Amino acid sequence: MAYRTNALFRDDAYLRTADAVVVAVNDRGGIILDRTIFYATSGGQPGDTGTLERADGSLIAVAATITGETKDDIIHVPPPEQAVPEVGEPVKLALDWQRRHLLMRMHTACHLLTVVCPFPITGASVSEDDSRIDFDIPDAGFTREDVTARLMELVRADHPVFARLITDEELAANPGLVKSKNVRPPVGTGKIRLVCIGENASIDSQPCGGTHVKSTGEVGEIHIGKVEKKGRENRRFRIRFGPMPPA
Ligand SMILES: [Zn+2]
Repeated sequence: MAYRTNALFRDDAYLRTADAVVVAVNDRGGIILDRTIFYATSGGQPGDTGTLERADGSLIAVAATITGETKDDIIHVPPPEQAVPEVGEPVKLALDWQRRHLLMRMHTACHLLTVVCPFPITGASVSEDDSRIDFDIPDAGFTREDVTARLMELVRADHPVFARLITDEELAANPGLVKSKNVRPPVGTGKIRLVCIGENASIDSQPCGGTHVKSTGEVGEIHIGKVEKKGRENRRFRIRFGPMPPA
């Protein structure tokens, strides 16, 4: 069966701790809570890690967070041979915040890259030290130095990043909001979360359920590590933290 966990990270990506109650433990030891700050692997962003603290102070590690049958069905996966909590038991949640904040910075950097490179996207993956986006273009037409310079202009401008909800009808009326060639945002629930950059979304807006930093300045220094050819019609851009190393 599919559970509906209250996904606190959607309204506040900066929550590092929270209290919750165990709703179920599945047959593989996966823990389902009534509410959570743990983002579940989706949309190219890996799920969170951290701990659940029991009333006696002992900790259950969360090695991965995944979705079940729906995106609201969030499963906290402990490593093998951990203690299993009881249904109804209260737990204190704590994220591996250092890792999550790197993922938020990287994920936001990916949005900036889609602004600088406004081409159809065929794939994307975020990790804490390297991210990639595959664009459906035969030739980038610009160098990694150009792209890095334009990314850093957006970072230095410190544009606000915020989410707002739109209806299925608003999305249907603005098909240009969807940049992915293969993945369509889920419609039918009535509301779609748009992630916007800039005052009045002047820089960008696109459907996304991930976690982001609150302003582009918080992304910090990034550069394009590599542009790889992936077949005739695809170019893969890699984003890394820090200044561009000398050629
Ligand atoms: Zn996003």
